[in-house]
Amino acid sequence: MGVVRRRSGGFVLKVNPILCDGYGHCHELAPELVNVDEWGYPIIKTAITPLSDLATLESARYAVRGCPRQALRVERLSDDPGPTRR
Ligand code: SF4
Repeated sequence: MGVVRRRSGGFVLKVNPILCDGYGHCHELAPELVNVDEWGYPIIKTAITPLSDLATLESARYAVRGCPRQALRVERLSDDPGPTRR
């Protein structure tokens, strides 16, 4: 009850803070998904973006490819196993 099913799920962008160098390049590549803090470290949007939002998905992939430390990844979240908590 109360479970909203999206047809194709969604995604979030994830950063590995150990690899990240904190120069904030990802903010330039995907500003709709990444802000930076006062030191330049990324603050990734935590809300799930639907996979149907192709423009934002492409931005996320662009940021993943452009990250010089390979610290970013796109994590897909399927609706199949049930609702994602938080
Ligand atoms: S582009 Fe990569 S290394 Fe640079 S701030 Fe973003 S996540 Fe960190």
